[in-house]
Amino acid sequence: MTYTIFEIAKILNIKKAGLNAAHINYLLTDSRNLLHPEETLFFAIATSNNDGHKYVQELYESGVRNFVVQELHADWERFDDANFLIVKDSLAALQKIAAVHRKKFDIPIIAITGSNGKTVVKEWIYQLIGSNFNVTRSPRSYNSQIGVPLSVWQLNENTQVGLFEAGISQPGEMEKLETIITPTIGVLTNVGEAHQENFETLKQKCLEKLELFINCDVIICEEDNHLIEECMEIACLTQKRLTWSKNMSGTSPLQIKKITKKDFSTQLDFIFLQYGFSTEIPFTDDASIENAMSAIAVAFYLHVPTATILEKLSQLEPVRMRLDVRSGKNNTIIINDTYNSDYNSLSIALDFLQQRSTLNSLKRLLILSDIPQSGTTLSSLYHRVADLLQQKKIDKLIGIGKDISKNKNIFKSIDSSFFESTDDFISSRVWANISDEMILLKGARSFGFEKINELLEVKSHETVLDVNLDAIVHNFNFYRSRLGKDTRLICMVKADAYGSGDVEVAKTLQHHKCDYLAVAVADEGVLLRQGGIKVPIIVLNPEVRGFDNLFSYNLEPEVYNFRILDAFIKEASNKGARDYPIHIKIDTGMHRLGFTKEDIPALVERMKNQNYLSIKSCFSHLAASESWTFDDFTTEQIKTFKEVAGQLERQLGYRVMKHILNSAGIERFPEEQMDMVRLGISLYGVSASGLSGLRNVCTLKTTILQIKEVPKGETVGYGRKGVMERDSRIATIRIGYADGLDRHLGNGVGKFLVNGQLAPLVGNVCMDLCMLDITNIPANEGDTVIVFGEELNLVDMAKSLDTIPYEILTSVSSRVKRIYYKE
Ligand SMILES: *Cc1c(COP(=O)(O)O)cnc(C)c1O
Repeated sequence: MTYTIFEIAKILNIKKAGLNAAHINYLLTDSRNLLHPEETLFFAIATSNNDGHKYVQELYESGVRNFVVQELHADWERFDDANFLIVKDSLAALQKIAAVHRKKFDIPIIAITGSNGKTVVKEWIYQLIGSNFNVTRSPRSYNSQIGVPLSVWQLNENTQVGLFEAGISQPGEMEKLETIITPTIGVLTNVGEAHQENFETLKQKCLEKLELFINCDVIICEEDNHLIEECMEIACLTQKRLTWSKNMSGTSPLQIKKITKKDFSTQLDFIFLQYGFSTEIPFTDDASIENAMSAIAVAFYLHVPTATILEKLSQLEPVRMRLDVRSGKNNTIIINDTYNSDYNSLSIALDFLQQRSTLNSLKRLLILSDIPQSGTTLSSLYHRVADLLQQKKIDKLIGIGKDISKNKNIFKSIDSSFFESTDDFISSRVWANISDEMILLKGARSFGFEKINELLEVKSHETVLDVNLDAIVHNFNFYRSRLGKDTRLICMVKADAYGSGDVEVAKTLQHHKCDYLAVAVADEGVLLRQGGIKVPIIVLNPEVRGFDNLFSYNLEPEVYNFRILDAFIKEASNKGARDYPIHIKIDTGMHRLGFTKEDIPALVERMKNQNYLSIKSCFSHLAASESWTFDDFTTEQIKTFKEVAGQLERQLGYRVMKHILNSAGIERFPEEQMDMVRLGISLYGVSASGLSGLRNVCTLKTTILQIKEVPKGETVGYGRKGVMERDSRIATIRIGYADGLDRHLGNGVGKFLVNGQLAPLVGNVCMDLCMLDITNIPANEGDTVIVFGEELNLVDMAKSLDTIPYEILTSVSSRVKRIYYKE
């Protein structure tokens, strides 16, 4: 549905003459998601992490002409073919437009809230009702103050049912979401501790959640929850209720009679309005059973035929979408998304593919299965898919399945080939010729794309370091929100991003607009540039030998003494450089590298006698920022730095940026942010000062090769160090000191996680293997062993080795494959 800019101005009560006519189809709040510039209205929203006004210029240059802003910048005045709608609050404007849009629809609108499971319940409702109704639903977990209006905006002429999630993190938010969604059917998944920080009591949060339902015709929730009951009464919610219950004593119309858990599925016997049904869902955990009940209740309420509900329940797909990035054969990279397939998740995966592949010269190949049908006709579905492939600039398509093969004419404009089944594709051996491509494997679970992945992937050592890119982004934003509006963030990616690996981490940071990256040596910077990294890069410890590369790859050196400065001036003059940026290191007490106060006059003198180089920033490094004991020393370092930097700046006669804080510094001395800060270890999930709220990034894991019963009195491993004091079960695992595992962890010092339980190391660590005592732990050969990760804290391992997390992370050797994933 299209709105003219005049209609939008009217909704926002803006009376402004001289608007240029425009039709708006897309609302945008994140400049990176721009698709159709001419039909886009951009909302410049200031959040705690960022400010949308910063991207107006860039968007204008990409062709966007319609903006909602809170203030007008002087340099935008020359954009006279653009419309600027000026409002007090851009977010409120976005919400208002969505609310007006919503009011045009007189159809069932489902809203889901609760502490956990919102996205799963939303997706499962969709899976149950999607073949009977044309459903418009929130993408991913768009459930915030920004996500909800963007979701509601998607309602269109074809929509028969709207399906949205609503999440809140503080009081007062739900009322706004209610105005935007105004649901007719409310679903409450549960009320628990998640996102409790800003609420005083659980009851307060429950009451707030219920505000979403004040205008609903029906509320769907669990019967057995007293808190919900109580809050409904307080809130005077007198609507019809469709409750479900896990115990047969209640009065719910929907009751579970019997739950039978099997190895990989659960049989549910339940009753709806006195009729008994039985089905099996492919999940075994309790949360999935509860989520399924909410979805079943909605489907019954909307009169979806029982046979359809039962059939779809048996095919429920998991919602967690995990995009693995792995190296493939023949210079390929594989993005693996073989769990589900629908239009929304395809679009998200394609975004990811596009983002990654613009940075290298690989072509983009999509291997796509049939998309289980969803309301629309097959041909219109695949027409939309074809449009999407064009927008995302896919070079090649391999379609697998009967439906997509039948519709192959729709894909005529791109290089494509089709196979009726996964087995047909495998026996064709077409895959053997795939090279120099970035491959997105996207298939519904029933297509078994794991088999294709198996063929394409480079198989190596099965000890891997899982790197959670979402967690890095979380940690990055966690710190960015603690910084002043104009403070820039330098992300330290030296030593292969603290061991987490090559350019993937840098790409992720670049995508999230970090201002600077820093590496230790020039070679690391070269690798990043070759991998497509464009943001400025500082090289911390440059050596004269690497100067050539600094210029060729546009890397900015730290200059720490006169030897380096003179050599660099000389090289810059040879290269004919002009004002090439350098960063001056000041020694304020670390006594490692850097100029001292006494050096400043000579430094300024040298700088003034040339114009090849120019000082962009000046900085110092704290020696003990994490330690309370040395706070006086730290304060002194900061004071010295300010003096010396001030002196340098005055004598130079131009402004230079100043920075001194590392991770612990940012956490403990936030008032000393100056112009920039340098974020290191905390980005990788280890708070240097014990701050909570960071997410774990790296998980080192391996597998059990063999399990042995070893009788009392025997010994295990080299040097006969592991003496059995009882009859024991010993697991040999595939990791040793050549993988970077510290030998001091042997003989009981280290403990790893096997199926959720701690197993101590037995005997000495070998080069490629080591042994664990799993006497009381149920485990099989092939099971996963976690060396460190979310469940097993790296900090504890560091303590037991009398070292620091930095050393453990950066010691994981290069033969351990890094696997990057997004949730
Ligand atoms: C490594 C490094 C940092 C980052 O330190 P963390 O403790 O990891 O935050 C900051 N500045 C310099 C100069 C560094 O070498």
